[in-house]
Amino acid sequence: MLTNLYFSIKRRYAKTLSMHVVTKIATALLTLLIATTCLANSAQVAIIIDDIGYRKTDSDVLNLPGDITFAVLPHTPFGQTIANQAHLANKDVIIHMPMEASSGKALGPGGLTSSMDEGEVRHALLQAYQELPFAIGLNNHMGSKLTAQYSPMVWTMRFLKEKQLMFIDSVTTERSKARQLAERFDVPSLSRHLFLDNELSSEYIGQQFSLLIAQAKKNRRVVAIAHPHPETVKALLELIPLLKEHDIELVSVSDMLDAKKSASNLQQHAVE
Ligand SMILES: [Zn+2]
Repeated sequence: MLTNLYFSIKRRYAKTLSMHVVTKIATALLTLLIATTCLANSAQVAIIIDDIGYRKTDSDVLNLPGDITFAVLPHTPFGQTIANQAHLANKDVIIHMPMEASSGKALGPGGLTSSMDEGEVRHALLQAYQELPFAIGLNNHMGSKLTAQYSPMVWTMRFLKEKQLMFIDSVTTERSKARQLAERFDVPSLSRHLFLDNELSSEYIGQQFSLLIAQAKKNRRVVAIAHPHPETVKALLELIPLLKEHDIELVSVSDMLDAKKSASNLQQHAVE
């Protein structure tokens, strides 16, 4: 966009303005272009806290610094209250939608299963959305069976597109079709790269966080998922400040998607 603007200004005003003024405008535009490119390409990390809602202490995650994204389980005792607080603090809230796992593990209330038809899937999604109407998107809780199935994911993406919601694939199976279908339905989407707290020791969480920093430096945009365990909150309170020291930006999922979009627009214009 800026490159186009630069050339159109040059074409339009080259005859009427002095070369000096045209050069000045061009330089200013180029500086702006470089700054925008750097911003769109700076290393970014999004941290999503999943599984919020069952324990009163889950609200401790609200003390984490910076743009954390909160993934809240619908129809849970504390989910709605914590989501409201997060929303009032201008944080991104997403629906942590229970989806059927291959293990057959209990889903919790309001989850999506493979025996549902489109009407039932839409109803369950709508019930969750009505409870968290300010949610900007959805990620899957479990779902190793359901995300690998075509029809339930098509129905989910259709719903998300209608409501202009984004999708984050928690990637609980390598066979997930969710992200691919999100792209087909033009639903903005991201995938989880790392889980930070599969083990609840400060050593393990610290190691995963180092991996997160290394991946962000290499791949620029990394999505991590953690959980509202007291051990995780304690560790993250100490670890999150390290991101700044490494020049990595902690962003909400919506900001990461915006940056991704600007970067691909710039790339497209560079090619043009
Ligand atoms: Zn979960």
